[in-house]
Amino acid sequence: MQRMDGITARERVRDVWGARTPFDRGHAWPDRVDIALAEGVAEDDVDAWVQSACVLCSNGCGCDIAVKDGRMVGIRGRADDPVNRGRLGPKGLFASWKGMENGDRLTTPLVREGGELVPASWDDAMDRVARRSRELLDEVGPLSHGFYTSGQLFLEEYYALAVIGKAGVGTPHMDGNTRLCTATAAAALKETFGADGQPAVYEDIDECDAMFLYGHNMAATQTVAWARVLDRLAGPNPPLIVAVDPRSTAVARRADVHLAINPGTNLALMHALVREVLERGWTDDDYLAAHTIGLDELRGQIEEWTPERAAEVCGIRADDIREAARIFGTSRRVLSTVLQGFYQSAQATAASCQVNNLHLLRGMIGRPGAGILQMNGQPTAQNNRECGADGDLPGFRNWENQAHIDELATLWGVDSLKIPHWAEPTHAMQLFRYVEQGSIRFLWISATNPAVSLPQLPRIREILGSSDAFLVVQDLYLTETAEFADVVLPAAGWGEKTGTFTNTTRTVHLSEKAVDPPGEARSDLDIFLDYARRMDFRRLDGEPLIDWTGPEDVYRAWQECSRGRPCDYTGISYDDLRAEGAVRWPRREGETESVDRLYSDAQFPTRREQCETYGHDLLTGAVLDEPTFAALNPDGRAILKSAPYSGPHEPPDDEYPLRFTTGRSAYHFHTRTKTGRARELVEAAPSVWVEMAETDAAARGLAEGDVVEVRSRRGRLVAPVRISAIAPAAVFAPFHYGYWDAPEDAAEPHPTAANELTITEWDPVSKQPVFKTAAVRVERVRDPS
Ligand code: SF4
Repeated sequence: MQRMDGITARERVRDVWGARTPFDRGHAWPDRVDIALAEGVAEDDVDAWVQSACVLCSNGCGCDIAVKDGRMVGIRGRADDPVNRGRLGPKGLFASWKGMENGDRLTTPLVREGGELVPASWDDAMDRVARRSRELLDEVGPLSHGFYTSGQLFLEEYYALAVIGKAGVGTPHMDGNTRLCTATAAAALKETFGADGQPAVYEDIDECDAMFLYGHNMAATQTVAWARVLDRLAGPNPPLIVAVDPRSTAVARRADVHLAINPGTNLALMHALVREVLERGWTDDDYLAAHTIGLDELRGQIEEWTPERAAEVCGIRADDIREAARIFGTSRRVLSTVLQGFYQSAQATAASCQVNNLHLLRGMIGRPGAGILQMNGQPTAQNNRECGADGDLPGFRNWENQAHIDELATLWGVDSLKIPHWAEPTHAMQLFRYVEQGSIRFLWISATNPAVSLPQLPRIREILGSSDAFLVVQDLYLTETAEFADVVLPAAGWGEKTGTFTNTTRTVHLSEKAVDPPGEARSDLDIFLDYARRMDFRRLDGEPLIDWTGPEDVYRAWQECSRGRPCDYTGISYDDLRAEGAVRWPRREGETESVDRLYSDAQFPTRREQCETYGHDLLTGAVLDEPTFAALNPDGRAILKSAPYSGPHEPPDDEYPLRFTTGRSAYHFHTRTKTGRARELVEAAPSVWVEMAETDAAARGLAEGDVVEVRSRRGRLVAPVRISAIAPAAVFAPFHYGYWDAPEDAAEPHPTAANELTITEWDPVSKQPVFKTAAVRVERVRDPS
């Protein structure tokens, strides 16, 4: 066991993944306990260590919060947690607790008076919210309401919000910023396997012979998972690594094959990889025959995609595609991970389904070292998908299946017609379009900052600023979005409330309240329950729709909702979580062991009565109806699906000759609401930058550090340039940087957010916005400042 003793915070920030603990394939990942404490506080000074898990990425590392004198003063990884074995990355070590204690937390509700936000009592603020909501429900109906939430609340909060929105208000206009980060993960899992749910587990890193990272800069996004990979690479029998990324990331630099493809061309590459595996006969034909459908259609879609053709489209060498296919086709155990490079790009679901297809072709799923992680971005995104505060129905239910709607209606005691299910639920981009058009007139935004995170920010600012919608914003801080609100509600955050959440590998943690929130801030759950009480939502029998008083009440209700569904929580209680620390779903009532890997038995939830979707046409997004699905008759088999390649929506041209793509830094999370308030992380990555290839920089007379303007058809970004090994004609900027901490004397108010440039486009199936391809031009502004 290693501790961070003797290592300064500054060194640990620089050494993102910490000291190596090498291990061999098939062995357990050694413990290494990381700890960070406030200056002057030693471990012995801590009054209490309170069980939790980190909420700064989808890894969900188990940890304990250090409390002294009623304040959070540090954090320590839990050595017995299967997710992290004690490790924490820079964001967890510093932003988790420091991000909560800043002096500019919201401590009282604010209401808009005479154009200004002024302090108000909770009663006044919530009365305004409930009064406007009631007026609109009476005058216009439920379609006047929209709810846009997060990937950072707790399970209980999502479930309460889902019941309020779907059974209380009755609106289909509910989504989360999970649409921006994991909608494609869910869509790809549903299309192939019939329901959401991550097939693999992190222990597969310990077991695999090869890892494929598709658009997944794991070294920056899930730094602790990457430490696990680095430890395998440092030990005997290391896995081969294949990275698909236009940038030369830390992952790409460790890769045996780095496929630096042009942004937006993922599906062309995937077609070629699938074709190679089929052509070379690297398939498990018995598995395919017994457990899949759709092979002939798949063959038809990829037959023209020779490595040479894909190489031309993707801007890479055909031999590199062949080598990647050979590694996939000849390794015994391959683990694939997929993230935003695929999810936020053109034809996101089709490309991600091809990853699933590769594994099915080889029967490589559900066994140690062989599996798929269609990764999540945010820490609690999985719970939003499970609980249905986004565009899903709770418990992975199918909006086209009347029996599923009836189950929810019985559970909630309402008429099934109350629950919107006449069409696909509204996705985030459409939700904001309805606000723009004036049909949504009450918008409640919780724990997210769309004024920085949505694409095409000039338009989003216009919508938030000029629409006549009544805007409620609930957050820890006065974010760029909260500045537009009619009512701002101060929320308690991590460590200040109790609740559960589930990481990307289905691992559930309980995060206990460690300290009181500042001022009058209240948990998001308290706020939602207060709204439900004021609105007096009722069941058919006249009883209150919601009678929960705290998180464990809600959790028990959620357990019932999950009963019999793929995400069955009925065997996971708060007490189990307290005793065991981390528990995977599914675990059914009466069971004491969880299912580790899904689909070990090759039984997929594609039966008509069971599945979460009847699927889509992956090219157009057209919804397949029940008769079409019944005719396919997958009946427990996985579905090999893809689509013809069509390429990115806004290809480069003479005026905008470069391809703009956005991404992440290891030091920041989303719009830096927390990480921007941890000094160590701010010092490590203080401001936005732009990356370009050497040839592109030279063609424009640019030297390292020169300040450039990047312009698209929608806006502009001004930042210093870094010359890097990014693919030629590609331009990268991190998307974290908004304006809350911009200098007050800034000459221009909006030049530093990457989403000033991005495009209002989305994948036709997952509806995930396309952040990874926009045509831009770059011009020099001035010398380094
Ligand atoms: S890897 Fe993710 S969950 Fe783990 S400490 Fe870092 S930010 Fe937190």
